[in-house]
Amino acid sequence: MPPKSGPRKADSRACLVCGILQTPNEFLNDGCPNCEEILNLKGNADRVAECTSALYDGVIAMMQPEESWVAKWQRIDKKRRGLYAVRVTGRPPQDVIDAIEERGGVYRPRDTVED
Ligand SMILES: [Zn+2]
Repeated sequence: MPPKSGPRKADSRACLVCGILQTPNEFLNDGCPNCEEILNLKGNADRVAECTSALYDGVIAMMQPEESWVAKWQRIDKKRRGLYAVRVTGRPPQDVIDAIEERGGVYRPRDTVED
């Protein structure tokens, strides 16, 4: 039996909008803690597959969202604590991007890192 240590879950997927890492079952059962209002992932495996990606690089743990410079750099200072991918490969469906813009937000692709 390999040791079960380390923060990385082997089968984690990253949310394409905020980058949070969860297992597919967590997305399916609980939705995305940040974006559920837009994504509606709960109970919808197809939607989870569309709006999350298994291809990501770099993991940062955000424990104190209000204080972390990393959080500011990643523009996730308003979001929940947890593990986030630095880069996520893939784009969410157009309706998700529209929903973000309808709420006055701007969709930022997470597969590039801006400076
Ligand atoms: Zn999200």
